[in-house]
Amino acid sequence: MPSIAMKDVTVDYATGKNTYRALASVSLTVPQGTVCAVIGPSGCGKSTMLKAAAGLLTPTSGMVSVDGAPVSPAQQSIGYLQQNYGLLPWRTVAENIRLACRIKGRSIDEAAYVALCRQLGLSDLLGRYPRELSGGQQQRVSLARVFLLRPDILLMDEPFSALDAITREEMQEVFRALWQASQVTTILVTHYVEEALYLGQQIVLMAPQPGHIAEIIANPLAGQTAARGTAAFQQQALALRQKIRAMRQMPGEVAAHA
Ligand code: ADP
Repeated sequence: MPSIAMKDVTVDYATGKNTYRALASVSLTVPQGTVCAVIGPSGCGKSTMLKAAAGLLTPTSGMVSVDGAPVSPAQQSIGYLQQNYGLLPWRTVAENIRLACRIKGRSIDEAAYVALCRQLGLSDLLGRYPRELSGGQQQRVSLARVFLLRPDILLMDEPFSALDAITREEMQEVFRALWQASQVTTILVTHYVEEALYLGQQIVLMAPQPGHIAEIIANPLAGQTAARGTAAFQQQALALRQKIRAMRQMPGEVAAHA
């Protein structure tokens, strides 16, 4: 399983006659087989960073590499899970799950397909269309699709944000189980501190104006279901929340200390 690294990645967007710096000199390494959770206030460049990591956007300067080679969606298998699930409304659940493999010209491991559908509780829903599913079920379909692809790198942009709190926690468990079986190197963008703490071995705290990394935190609480709800977990969550709130209120000040 490869690692992914960003070195001095800067992204400027053209806005009329001017340019807007969305990301300034971001450097980050996600070791193979780990999950990196990226968190920060809205507008701090999280989605921009993920698009650059996916090779969907070429940085103004700096480089993204997968196992030392420049990132290339054509050369490497990169799973990209969008916020809105990315399901095709006119295709059934089965077709949607198999779609990513078909587009990439990959043969489908039928045993893995059946096992994934069973594990995700989709076996009885395969003939339905996305509109006939709940938000949680649609999210399961998009997870099945991306895990069937067996990507080298998995990038997830606020995958559970549209779900209610209980469903979101369930989906975090589902993701955790799938991830444990595959150990795919993952970057997960989230705005939930508890999600970052539960899933990310590494937590990257981003700050705005322009978007940059304020802090990288090693997180020993990751994956410890029993730790959820403990005082230590709540304390960490509170500390993270306070840091994010401080950045939103006083971006200049936090940036100066970062
Ligand atoms: P986040 O995901 O943290 O909310 P984004 O990466 O979406 O942040 O956006 C970072 C900043 O870049 C925001 O201020 C946003 O308005 C701006 N931005 C994002 N996409 C574009 C674009 N295509 N053109 C111009 N500005 C953009």
